[in-house]
Amino acid sequence: MVDLTGRVALVTGGSRGIGRAISLRLARAGADVAINYLSNHEAARACQQEVEALGRQCLLVPGDVSRPEDVKGFVQSALAAFGHIDILVNNAGFHRDMLLLRMSIRDWDEVIDVNLKGAFLVTKEVLRAMMRQRWGRIINIASLTGVTGNAGQANYAAAKAGLIGFTKAVAREMGTRNITANVVAPGLIETELIKDLPEHLRAEALRRTALGRLGRPEDVAGLVAFLASEEASYITGQVIVVDGGLGM
Ligand code: NDP
Repeated sequence: MVDLTGRVALVTGGSRGIGRAISLRLARAGADVAINYLSNHEAARACQQEVEALGRQCLLVPGDVSRPEDVKGFVQSALAAFGHIDILVNNAGFHRDMLLLRMSIRDWDEVIDVNLKGAFLVTKEVLRAMMRQRWGRIINIASLTGVTGNAGQANYAAAKAGLIGFTKAVAREMGTRNITANVVAPGLIETELIKDLPEHLRAEALRRTALGRLGRPEDVAGLVAFLASEEASYITGQVIVVDGGLGM
């Protein structure tokens, strides 16, 4: 049984989809949660109420993970409210798919900025506090696409593969401080993010998925809670795929 009593987690993009499931799962295990999100206040408030209904404290810290001044502001707000951050889940992300020949520089930059630079900025801002307390868990949500590549997702695949390299570097730099860093790489998970996936691609993915169903946000959240726990204290620098057997 994963026990996170007394821990504080910061979950970026923690208000909807996979991030919401992670916020709730960590709260159910006993952690207080700071939820970062971009602009959908209604979804964030709903998630906050769900966390509070579990008996945990929940602070909403909106801001764009790709903007250094936003990141500084929301990490400092979380630290001021809770006094410490023990678990960081870099989950905020989005994709803008296009075949490479037609991909704009803007679409490249924005996808890299949120998915990769965002994790760099938030991790850097949180690390000092984790180093002081000599305990920390960093869990970065990449994607199966970052491991295998995917046509139409050169920007997203590069960002998520970059996140894997980033995580391994953090794991090496921070190991002796008792801070672990791991990647969770989901396959296709039922959230708003994949609502526009063409039907034939969805059917093809289902056909290739050993477990015969798409993933649920909770399928990802369970692993994140485990990696955040004491039980996972000797696991670092790893990429763990949660895809129902899609990518094997
Ligand atoms: P959703 O679109 O359902 O939720 C995205 C969340 O991220 C929202 O809380 C959103 O806030 C927030 N967000 C978006 N951009 C920013 C930003 N610039 N700064 C801060 N917060 C931001 O996505 P998913 O839950 O599906 O995806 C979560 C993560 O999982 C992403 O990193 C994604 O790449 C990854 N992933 C998802 C897969 C899937 O099949 N769904 C597969 C593999 C990986 P707001 O509500 O305010 O917009």
